[in-house]
Amino acid sequence: MLGFALKPIYRCRVCGRFVEEPFHCGKPAVLVMDGVRRLRLSKLVSGLLRHFPWEACLELDEGGWVDIDVLVEGIRRCWRNRELYQWVTREHIVALALLDPKGRFELSNDGRRIRAAYGHSVKVKIDRRPLSLEELPEKLYHGTVKRVLENIFREGIKPMKRLMVHLTDRFEDAVETGRRHGSDVVVLVVDPRCLVEKGYEVYKAGRSVYLVARVPPECIVERIFVS
Ligand SMILES: [Zn+2]
Repeated sequence: MLGFALKPIYRCRVCGRFVEEPFHCGKPAVLVMDGVRRLRLSKLVSGLLRHFPWEACLELDEGGWVDIDVLVEGIRRCWRNRELYQWVTREHIVALALLDPKGRFELSNDGRRIRAAYGHSVKVKIDRRPLSLEELPEKLYHGTVKRVLENIFREGIKPMKRLMVHLTDRFEDAVETGRRHGSDVVVLVVDPRCLVEKGYEVYKAGRSVYLVARVPPECIVERIFVS
């Protein structure tokens, strides 16, 4: 994850859209944020909206939302490393949210508020509809490491520090998650229908993330060792 660069974000002078290419609509676009700033801001905003809003003097509402102008103010006036973020404006936050490759952020319909789509450890109530059987993907994946397998096969997958268990429909993303915990990565394959049949509600968040309160051991159908 560290050292992983994101593309710069530009704004098209013609159509006004945020884009990742330096040319759009046949004209050179305006640089909004280089890849280094984008990555740094993305990590900070994820952290504030998921785990430690108080560190930037922010208060999330029940649904996890915060006003974008209040977020900018919090980052520039209250966050402990605020001197590194004096360049941040509302435009940077909106561009970050709209182009996030995993759909980590949601903007409210009126465009005034932002929240993290998933990943919360702070208590929020995300008003989502559970997926129906027809909407479930065939398989979901969970990346972990060998040393916790025994525990998982006894107690299932539990959310640990987060509110919900995070699963993905992208095998590569599960591998990446596993690698954050060690080098002996194991990807567990979960049967989403089994979860629903056992009475669990499964939610979709972001582009490829699925949330569930717990995965009982009997819904884990396969383990894949990744070296
Ligand atoms: Zn354009």
